[in-house]
Formats: sequence, C-alpha cells, structure tokens
Amino acid sequence: MSLPTIDQDYFVDFLVKLLNIHSPTGFAEPAIAFVEKELSQFDQLQMTRTRKGALVVKWEVESEEAPVALTAHVDTLGAVVKEIKSNGRLRLSRIGGIQWPSVETEGTWIFTSKGEKIRGSVLIDTASGHVHGAAGNDTPRNDEHMEVRLDARTTSEKETRELGINIGDCVAFDPRVEVTNGFIRSRFLDDKACVANIVSAIKSMVDAGLSPARSVYFHISNYEEVGHGASAGIPTDVAELVTVDMAVVGRGQESDEFNATLCIKDGGGVYHEGLNKKLRALAGRHSIPYKTDVYVFYGSDGEAFWRAGGDVALALIGPGIDASHNYERAHMDGLNATTNWIMAYLLD
Ligand SMILES: [Zn+2]
Repeated sequence: MSLPTIDQDYFVDFLVKLLNIHSPTGFAEPAIAFVEKELSQFDQLQMTRTRKGALVVKWEVESEEAPVALTAHVDTLGAVVKEIKSNGRLRLSRIGGIQWPSVETEGTWIFTSKGEKIRGSVLIDTASGHVHGAAGNDTPRNDEHMEVRLDARTTSEKETRELGINIGDCVAFDPRVEVTNGFIRSRFLDDKACVANIVSAIKSMVDAGLSPARSVYFHISNYEEVGHGASAGIPTDVAELVTVDMAVVGRGQESDEFNATLCIKDGGGVYHEGLNKKLRALAGRHSIPYKTDVYVFYGSDGEAFWRAGGDVALALIGPGIDASHNYERAHMDGLNATTNWIMAYLLD
C-alpha cells in the first residue's frame, strides 16, 4: 500500500503560522490552542487537555490491538524578566538553553502579566562601538552582560515598572521565519516542525479516506524544554510511544536536513530495540530516507515518560535540524520523510 500524498503548501502554511506564535515553555498556551483549533476540523478526533495544559488528541478505531501514541512539543526556548536594571533595561533568566550569541540584536516581545506586550531587542551591555570601542567584541555573552533595550521611553527602573513590566514576565525572541528553495529557516523548528509533521500526517490520511490501524493518541507537549513535558498525559493502555523530535545535525553527526533520523541513543539512554526494528522495516518498505544516529546533549519527552514510570516501547524519530537551539534550519526532504514515516507507522 502506498502512502497518502502530503499537501506541501498546507504543511508549510501551518508550520509558518505555528512558528510565528510565541510559546516559550510556561507560556505555550497560544500554540496549544492553535493546534487544537486546527485539529478541530477533523471529526475523527477527540481532544482533551491535561491539567498541565498539554493537548491530548485521540483517534479511536476498532482494533483488537492496544493503542499507540506519538508525542511532539510546541513549547520553545525563551526567557523571563529576571531583574529591571537601574537604566531601565532588563536582565533575563533563560528558559531552556538558548545560546546568547544567537539572539544578540534579536527582536523580542515582553508579555506583561496584565496582557500587554512591549517590544524590545537583545543587546550586549557594551553595544555602542563609539562608546566601548573594541571592548564590545570581548564582553562575554552571558546572563550578566546581555540585556533587553525596550522600545519605550525609559531610563530608570521606575519608568520600566510604570510600563507594566514586572519580574517574571515572559520574554519571547522573534523566530525570523524564512522559506527559500525547500529550506525552512527559523528559530524553534525544534519542535514545531514535528508538530507540523503530525498534523499534516493526520490531514493527509483524512484526505485520503484512511484511518490508523490501531487507536492512537497524539500528545502535544507544553513543557519539553525543561525536561518533563510528556511525563504525564500518555494513557496507561498505550503500548508504544513514538517521540517525534528534531534530529541533531552538525560535526560528528550522521543526521542531515534531507533525511529523517531514528535516534538509537541520546543523553538520556538507549531507546527500545523492538520498536526501532519495526520503524526501520516500515522505512524500508516505503522507501523513506533515514539515518540512524546518537545524540550527546539531548533528552526527549519520551524518556521523560519512561523516567516517570511509563511502561511502553519507546522510539525517537525526527527531521534533521541544523544549528539546533540556535538559528535553526530544516529542508522539505527531511520533513516529508518524517511525515511519511509517521503515516507508515499509523497505517501499519
Ligand atoms: Zn525538541
């Protein structure tokens, strides 16, 4: 049986919209709500939320076999206001491991607790070349020296507080999405690309009049970047969990942007051999281009579920993402391979 055709325009349109919704961990509700609204067009799906705010989507079918699950996360790296400096600028506390040099000069939004948003940008505190000369090059890019300059009239802590900004307010970095020549360049393709893989797999199957072979839960996670996203919300009758998350591209890695990857081992340990075998066989049968790889600085939401006591066979697949947790890039070939792999798994 051949796999349904993926609607490329739909995929890109959905992904670009999702990338442009700010959703740092802890503030991911707008992205969860967007995915929920998108999936509400499919009558086949039942949706619920966990108390933690994750979206759980069930596609129930008649089958003797136990249900399976897939998980991907919409939360991203970001920051909160840590301190308002005496010059009115903001010191930040990072959410997840965003690399400071990658967001230097980037546009930001500060979301205040009153529901307003204030524009700004990230700078080193020795930014002016005419003031600091070469010192600007040598200042370490770290929590102490990076600051947010607000696009509002303030030169003091008091004036900044009067704008409505408080300690703990969410700070989101512009994703800067660009689609060129099959490449998608943006922050936070980790893991919004894989949420788009899941959504477009569902749409492609529905459009083709197909249903999964077993009942399936799609868990859209909202706390992955801090390590515990899918530790709750996977029903106990689920037999297999496929985590769909980015593959690591760079020096020493086998993964690239033009293939999907099956991760055998990462920083959190080794995945389930039996489920890996099944995924390899499916890729072979459907001519899905994939690599196998090992990630060093990486832990997945599936492992969070394992560590929380989840009793499932667990695997990790995903598209190659270059410069992850920095200014990321993916290619449609790797993205399509991942969507196809998801469909092959669901239909098997
Ligand atoms: Zn991720």
